Order: sequence, then C-alpha cells, then structure tokens
Amino acid sequence: MAKATTPKTATCRRPGCHATLTNPRSVARGIGPTCARKERQDNAARAAGIKPATLVKARELIADGGIIPIRGRRVFRAVSSDGTATYLTAPQACSCAAGLRGKHGCFHRAAATLLAA
Ligand SMILES: [Zn+2]
Ligand SMILES: [Zn+2]
Repeated sequence: MAKATTPKTATCRRPGCHATLTNPRSVARGIGPTCARKERQDNAARAAGIKPATLVKARELIADGGIIPIRGRRVFRAVSSDGTATYLTAPQACSCAAGLRGKHGCFHRAAATLLAA
C-alpha cells in the first residue's frame, strides 16, 4: 500500500463499506454521505432504545416507501402492511393500534426516528 502524502482520497470507516471517498468533505470526515446518514440513524435508534427486530421492520418500511414525510422531517404518514390504512407517525407517537396501545414503540415510530435523524 502506497502512503499518500496528499490525502485526496480515503476509505470509508463504516464497517463493511470500504468505499473510496473522493469528496473533500467526506475525506475529511472519513465517511461517505450515505454511511454518515446510516451512522446517524444507528445512533438515533440506539438512543431511542429501538429493538433490533423493530429496526429491521422499520428499515423495510422505509425501503418499501411505506413512510413519507408530510411535515418537514418530524411528522410522517405510514401505510399499513396491507396498504388499507395510513397512520400519522412521529418519533414520539403513532396513530396505529400498537402505537396507541403500546408502551413500546411500533416500527412506524422506529422508521420515523430513523428518518428524522
Ligand atoms: Zn461508506
Ligand atoms: Zn405505528
């Protein structure tokens, strides 16, 4: 491995990524924009105490486009898994049955937490 005297590129520090960074800002931070966002989301999920299983469902919901922002990045509309109902969701609250009933956050709230990060 050649030692770079002028570090114009760097390797993303997120585990499992290893992408080569070329953007000066990313090089300075040592992480790419996508990974930086994932890292923020990981931190937010950890801070909110979201369980891994809930996190998986939340990420699926986001990937499926089942949750969209309706007010900035604080309030979201989530679609139920069968597509027949929509819920108002924020990191702190959700209008779905589980969200209204549960002490523990539903995965809509988890998804909102990730998106608001
Ligand atoms: Zn990366
Ligand atoms: Zn919910």
